[in-house]
Amino acid sequence: MAMEAKANAVSFDAVVIGAGVAGLHQLYRLRGLGLKVICIDSAPGVGGTWYWNRYPGARFDSEGFIYQYFFSEDLFRDWSWSEKFPGQPEIERWMNYVADRLDLRKDIKLSTTVESAHFDEETERWTIATDRGDVIDTQFVVACTGPLSAPLTDLFPDQSTFKGQIYHTGRWPEAPVDFAGKRVAVIGNGSTGIQVIQTIAREVKSLKVFARTPQYVLPMKNPKYSAEDVVAYKARFRELAEVTPKTFAGFHYDFHETPWADLTAEQRREVYEANWRDGSLRLWLASFPDLFTVEEANKEISDFVREKMRERIDDPTLREALIPKSYGFGTRRVPLESGYLETYLRDNVELISIRDNPITKIKPDGIELADGRFYEVDIIILATGFDGATGALKKIDIRGRGGRSLRDEWNQDLRTTMGLQVYGYPNLFTPGAPLAPGAAFCNIPTCLQQQVEWISNCIKYMRDNGKAVIEPTKEKQDEWVAHHDEAANGTLIVKTDSWYMGTNVRGKPRRLVSYVGGAGVYNDMCIDIAKNGYAGFALS
Ligand code: NAP
Repeated sequence: MAMEAKANAVSFDAVVIGAGVAGLHQLYRLRGLGLKVICIDSAPGVGGTWYWNRYPGARFDSEGFIYQYFFSEDLFRDWSWSEKFPGQPEIERWMNYVADRLDLRKDIKLSTTVESAHFDEETERWTIATDRGDVIDTQFVVACTGPLSAPLTDLFPDQSTFKGQIYHTGRWPEAPVDFAGKRVAVIGNGSTGIQVIQTIAREVKSLKVFARTPQYVLPMKNPKYSAEDVVAYKARFRELAEVTPKTFAGFHYDFHETPWADLTAEQRREVYEANWRDGSLRLWLASFPDLFTVEEANKEISDFVREKMRERIDDPTLREALIPKSYGFGTRRVPLESGYLETYLRDNVELISIRDNPITKIKPDGIELADGRFYEVDIIILATGFDGATGALKKIDIRGRGGRSLRDEWNQDLRTTMGLQVYGYPNLFTPGAPLAPGAAFCNIPTCLQQQVEWISNCIKYMRDNGKAVIEPTKEKQDEWVAHHDEAANGTLIVKTDSWYMGTNVRGKPRRLVSYVGGAGVYNDMCIDIAKNGYAGFALS
């Protein structure tokens, strides 16, 4: 950073990067503490993931009544969801409602991308530079950049030669895409691909789905809410606010209280059936934790889901292609769906397995596979996912003490201190970063709120106690990474490839991005650290 640019910098107490679920809350809390704060986001609107992921069929997999902020009963009470799992347009409206209700817009700068953040060891302050030419001098940086906000867009040879329309789901355009009469390809069948496929099949002329790994899917039950339903869920505000931060995954439910091995197979079957009938993620997160750790328990529940899927698919070829065999249920993110499996029975839909016959090239008019087969299409939808947990932060040139680069360090080894801070980067906070539940294993608002509250309380503590700088000690970070790895390596998740393990990004160090000790346990540990004067963090 040139000295002159730095001299002209505008000063703030804190810069919040990102105006999504965490960023809006963080801006509100820091402003409430009396800090001069600016929030910066690349998007032209607020909402973060719910601004960008406006692809057809995008909706919550968490119940709307817990995908909420629980720091304000007014905010909760004055917004009414229309159904149990609302869709993206309603969610985006809700995020705009939050921004307006909390009067946040005056401190948000949109359509602006933070390009660099450099720490100056003399002044102990950060210099932020944006693509709009802003230079900002700030004491604190809170990177609310989201765990799933760096889309994997450029994946196939000669992709840029494609003459039709090509979209990544995580950068879906605001103007509606017209599918009528179009030959469409969807690449990817994760939670996103599934939502797209089941939604557009009836609009397109033809749909080719290029799928590599089959998914264990659970049918979503999504009742519309009556006025009475809304009153009923709103009456649960205190209970939900109390319970969600204490559970394993930040939901309003938790695992069965009896260990898997203490029940008979029949009793366990009753638990699976009841959870499956709920039409939510309960089968995954309210059955038995043993499914994550005990091969036999995982096999039993995997068989249960396979059986449920088989009941819906008669065709043996489709069964073979759609029902997973190579990994266990729940070791990747479980998608909810609505008629996804039946979509493949439509005459205009074809499932193309690319497990052993990968895409080798995108040509100007279609997609070519290794065996030379070619599919002519007008539109390609890349539902190919994200550089999870690390991608958004790695896009920014972040330099800490001694000019160390977060991008370079994370390209070698993925380390954080509880996903809150990284050793060597003082006064940089990172909610949603790797090695905390909020990176993947959580109803995201529960975990991000907990981190935002912790960060806000920490900054308040510093101000009250005349401290200017906080950073984790190397010992604390080493200790946390070791604890994280121990928890992760005790699970079957580490045996399955997915964005949870970083295996979807070539060259990314293999480590489970999310802490799996449980959101409630993590929350308690964070509270203890604060109670003990931020033990493990150096304050000066
Ligand atoms: P994802 O789960 O990473 O799935 C990406 C898909 O693209 C996979 O099917 C993957 O195949 C495929 N793929 C990636 N690179 C490929 C390549 N080079 N060639 C062929 N296929 C390729 O991404 P996502 O579906 O966007 O979901 C990411 C996360 O977002 C989810 O796990 C979830 O946490 C979140 N999400 C949430 C909701 C919700 O709550 N409602 C909705 C959507 C997404 P492989 O499986 O073989 O790698």
